[in-house]
Amino acid sequence: MKLDVNMLRYLSKDDFRVLTAVEMGMRNHEIVPCELVDRIASLKHGGTYKVLKNLLRHKLLHHDSSKYDGFRLTYLGYDFLAIKTLVNRGVFVSVGRQIGVGKESDIFEVATEDGTVMAMKLHRLGRVSFRAVKSKRDYLKHRSSYSWLYLSRLAALKEFAFMKALEEHGFPVPSAVDCNRHCVIMSLVQGYPLVQVKQLQNPEVVFETIIGLVVRLAEHGLIHCDFNEFNIMIDDDKKVTMIDFPQMVSVSHHNAQMYFDRDVECVFKFFRKRFNMNFRECRDDIDGTEVDTDESGRLCFSSIAKDAVFLDKELAASGFTRKDQEDIEKFIEGSLDKGASSGDEGAEDGTDVSVLNEANIEGVDSLHLVDQDQTSNLKQEEEGVEDNLRNCE
Ligand code: ADP
Ligand code: MG
Repeated sequence: MKLDVNMLRYLSKDDFRVLTAVEMGMRNHEIVPCELVDRIASLKHGGTYKVLKNLLRHKLLHHDSSKYDGFRLTYLGYDFLAIKTLVNRGVFVSVGRQIGVGKESDIFEVATEDGTVMAMKLHRLGRVSFRAVKSKRDYLKHRSSYSWLYLSRLAALKEFAFMKALEEHGFPVPSAVDCNRHCVIMSLVQGYPLVQVKQLQNPEVVFETIIGLVVRLAEHGLIHCDFNEFNIMIDDDKKVTMIDFPQMVSVSHHNAQMYFDRDVECVFKFFRKRFNMNFRECRDDIDGTEVDTDESGRLCFSSIAKDAVFLDKELAASGFTRKDQEDIEKFIEGSLDKGASSGDEGAEDGTDVSVLNEANIEGVDSLHLVDQDQTSNLKQEEEGVEDNLRNCE
């Protein structure tokens, strides 16, 4: 997706105020009626309609008049709100080139005032999995009360919380810097995804480090669930960093064993195919420590996870609650069971990444959070509005 941040400079205070008003209206409206936007924004000198037209022209909003006249945010509009907030907080001052198109995200470089470059991940939940989901109306129905914006925000918060907690426990992950809406700011990993590595001097050493990470995660009560060559970065000194955490689950999850085995198998498969490795010797001596294996040499999940030390406290400290975890788990489970680990290739072979912005997907609107009378509860809407709008100043 194209992210023309130059546009940010030309957007006025009123533009952001109206954009924020649409966002707030979307809490309980699929499409936010113009009158409601006008009331929430309460522009000093009026002119909401002109501003709405301007935002529409820049594709920050989508106009819908199928049921009644109204607007909703596009992902681009949501991007701008997050970026503006983070810039206001002084987290970074500029956005640079795009460095990654993930399965369900776009990654850009951002820079601070002193020139430090970091990575910005904009979550776009539903982008790819939607296609798989589209044909299954039942599945859609189950998820009808979630909006893509809400889920993307949750995914970002989850990723931020896990990254922070893992970092605190000494895992090799990017350093979590900040998080707003669907956007996570983290340190830039100097390296490249393992999938790009064609040769390694000591593949056994790298393999053991990587499998050691899966084991150590389980000892901390966690399974990555998308642990593969796309989500493992490696640098010239063979330092390994793992990324991409929104789909992680606890070892107490009912499918934990399966997810764990799948993560392990992914690593084995990659090293077997890419580096012709034969595993007989290294299965029971992972990362220098004895690890339980069963009679066929498989890593024994139950014995690894049995004394797991959970990171609940650390996760809660970042504001990620159990309810958040349950909400996002309901959504991700469908895509996890379809085999998350093959997904990253999807975006690289030309998956249409703009679908959600264009709002042209049949049925996508039914995924927005709406169940209320569209024009009532204006009073309630206005509660806390000033606080939110102050952030636009
Ligand atoms: P997705 O969840 O969409 O798969 P990822 O977090 O895996 O997104 O990121 C997609 C790609 O972006 C990665 O494969 C990697 O190339 C790049 N990337 C992500 N985070 C960073 C980072 N912190 N530093 C450098 N590159 C990154
Ligand atoms: Mg990834």
